[in-house]
Amino acid sequence: MKLAELKLQFFKELANLYPKEESRTFFNWICQQQLGLKPFEISVKGEQTLKDEQLRFFEKALADLKLEKPIQYILGKSYFYSMEFMVNEHTLIPRPETEELVSMIIEDNKTHPRPLRILDIGTGSGCIPISLAKHLTHAELYAIDISKDAIKLAKENAMKNQVVVRFGEIDILKASLLSNLFTKVDQFEVIVSNPPYVRELEKATMKNNVLKYEPQSALYVSDENPLLFYEQITKLAACHLKTNGRLYFEINQYLGDQTKDLVINAGFKEVEVIKDTFGNDRMLSAVR
Ligand code: GLN
Repeated sequence: MKLAELKLQFFKELANLYPKEESRTFFNWICQQQLGLKPFEISVKGEQTLKDEQLRFFEKALADLKLEKPIQYILGKSYFYSMEFMVNEHTLIPRPETEELVSMIIEDNKTHPRPLRILDIGTGSGCIPISLAKHLTHAELYAIDISKDAIKLAKENAMKNQVVVRFGEIDILKASLLSNLFTKVDQFEVIVSNPPYVRELEKATMKNNVLKYEPQSALYVSDENPLLFYEQITKLAACHLKTNGRLYFEINQYLGDQTKDLVINAGFKEVEVIKDTFGNDRMLSAVR
């Protein structure tokens, strides 16, 4: 089959499911990965005949897209802070909002003296500590997650991006302390987390690609106590964050005030809620 024919079929079969621009992005990404073509090269390569395995990949991808599987899981990769990350169904697909969180942490800490030990709680694909390690070269990065599978992938992502991050597996809701998780390190200058914060009641507004494929445990919290993870992390920070150390959260946009109150009541100072590019309450920073 020729690339031009495939393109026609691809757009036709996805027409009822996705806006044209989105289908184009999918097609471009697959062409880039499978054929090494840049988006602007695709239209002049219409006569190119696809190899069997390339065609099979496109057909499988098309079938998966029809089932609303995220393109990042189909390709097994995503981009975050201008770096490439492997992703799979054990990890959330990194979001642009989280890039803003990373940006803020880099800005605040670029002249921080050593030691600058940073712990990321609920690391998933490892995109937060890995991008911090790349840009805060004087920092030591630590990251924990409840999922063995996520940690395995995060370790691979750290290697792929050539940075050192130390990983540990722990369920922070069950363990009240991190003792002995990392040899010789018990206190950190910075703690960061993008914990699950989407309430059940918000599911109605979410898209199928998220609902059907992304890990539940990374996204959702109960309607009764949506701040559960923030409660637990501020408690942990009482032992594991140095005095004057900084705490950073990604937060639920609808719960900015409540999250702020919780952090203030846990004894933190300089508690600030910061909006993302879309104007939503999205980040919180505080000092212990
Ligand atoms: N921002 C993500 C979303 O909208 C949620 C991330 C999280 O729960 N930590 O799907």
